Amino acid sequence: MKPFEYKAVHSVEEAVSVLAEYGSDARILAGGTDLLIELRKQNVKTPKVVIDISFIKELRSIESPNGTIVLRPLVTHSEIVTSKVIQQYASLLMSAASVIGSPQIRNKGTVGGNIMNAATCADTVPPLIALGAKITLRSKANSRQIDLSDLFVKPYQTKAQAEELLTEINFLKLSPNAKSSFIKLGRRNALAISRLSVAAILTQDKNGKITDARIVPGAALPVWRRVTEAEKLLIGEKPSKELFVTAGQKVSEVMISHTGRRWSTEYKEPVIAVLVRRALEACL
Ligand SMILES: Cc1cc2nc3c(=O)[nH]c(=O)nc-3n(C[C@H](O)[C@H](O)[C@H](O)COP(=O)(O)OP(=O)(O)OC[C@H]3O[C@@H](n4cnc5c(N)ncnc54)[C@H](O)[C@@H]3O)c2cc1C
Repeated sequence: MKPFEYKAVHSVEEAVSVLAEYGSDARILAGGTDLLIELRKQNVKTPKVVIDISFIKELRSIESPNGTIVLRPLVTHSEIVTSKVIQQYASLLMSAASVIGSPQIRNKGTVGGNIMNAATCADTVPPLIALGAKITLRSKANSRQIDLSDLFVKPYQTKAQAEELLTEINFLKLSPNAKSSFIKLGRRNALAISRLSVAAILTQDKNGKITDARIVPGAALPVWRRVTEAEKLLIGEKPSKELFVTAGQKVSEVMISHTGRRWSTEYKEPVIAVLVRRALEACL
């Protein structure tokens, strides 16, 4: 690792001032579980300064005002797993956080770092997109809110400017009749990144008909998105194995229409379809 300057900041104002001063010569450090690995690589540009935001207390809370949940970016995966509010109103996010890395990684790794690193295998992103999350990006001069699904350009690249800091992630609480799930498939059971994953939410009326459906695959498409083509097949229908199989096949079809046929398609084509069916079944 080549030398760089290290600055610990203690407030959002201080962080955005230093970011404004250094721009693309700065990198933000939260838990460091992605950044420090990246900085050790030979082909990566060494920043002039690494700004450690991990001491900013105001960026580490989970609140639930007026039917919404507000997550600050320094919330760790362990804190998501043990949060009663997340368990009750966004249990698919809790499921995703619970299978990230190992206990050590979950204790250090943050939800903000997981989002901003933009790896296709980032486990908190599919649930957050299924939940309709919005994020706030702050710079010294500006603050803007965007849909999380609009943040990503391609793997490891976001639309955030170099001087912008992620300060908030918010979404509506799931209604009591919404059921959700997150399924991840790794190469082994522990300490494995996602080969594929699926976040799903299903809402039914009192007659059992599906009134709302959200399906977001992970590590399947170049950028995450809800697969509305498959969701539409479910709306107005009563759940059945055949229906869920059809929805899974549609997700598989949509994936191939985006990625084309590649070396991994032979594996991913049937597997994503099965994972979608299982995620939908797990909702119920
Ligand atoms: C052994 C191991 C296993 C892992 N397993 C998994 C896994 O199963 N699933 C998974 O999804 N991930 C996994 N990861 C990846 C990593 O732990 C997560 O992505 C973690 O959430 C990153 O958070 P962090 O706080 O450590 O981010 P950092 O490393 O501190 O930062 C990551 C990136 O985000 C930027 N950043 C951080 N915070 C902000 C902010 N507030 N505003 C703007 N930019 C910001 C940083 O500049 C950097 O580019 C694993 C990593 C390791 C080392």
